[in-house]
Amino acid sequence: MTGVQNGFPLGPQPGVTYPIQVLYCGNCSLPIEYCEYYPEYEKCKLWLERNMPSEFERVLKLGEKEDGEGGGGEEEKKRQKRGGKGIMKARKKEDGPKQVCVSRAPRGKKKSVTVVTGLSTFDIDLKVASKFFGTKFACGSSVTGDDEIVIQGDVKDELFDIIPEKWPEIDEDSIEDLGDQKR
Ligand SMILES: [Zn+2]
Repeated sequence: MTGVQNGFPLGPQPGVTYPIQVLYCGNCSLPIEYCEYYPEYEKCKLWLERNMPSEFERVLKLGEKEDGEGGGGEEEKKRQKRGGKGIMKARKKEDGPKQVCVSRAPRGKKKSVTVVTGLSTFDIDLKVASKFFGTKFACGSSVTGDDEIVIQGDVKDELFDIIPEKWPEIDEDSIEDLGDQKR
């Protein structure tokens, strides 16, 4: 009868003396230790603050330790606005597979641009990469998102040769062709 503390308990277990100290969150209904993995962790925290103030303080202290930055007022507000997505995204970047994706997107009636994402999963500086593409293809190129570069021109096919040539750590097989983006 040991494994219970480590997994999700499925209701009363025979031979176990109750109460076991498993507290469930009223927002996400998970044991409160798991709240931080829930996308709406901020709402969980609000619920905890209202219903289990002592646990709220404990969880909050743990969270601050993990962050290392202590969470200031402004920073905290920003995170709440994004609904906790920032946390999930950061984890994904560390654990997820390294992959670059390229696709073609229409711009205007006849023109296309090329969208490159995923370079930062290889720890590549996007500004440097964008400048490199601009020079290489003699066209506009700019960083347009968290991990996105848009090159002004249809250069998707060339990228499969040029990216591994410039960054040998990126294998041609790690570049995924997403094809044409629909308008
Ligand atoms: Zn929760």
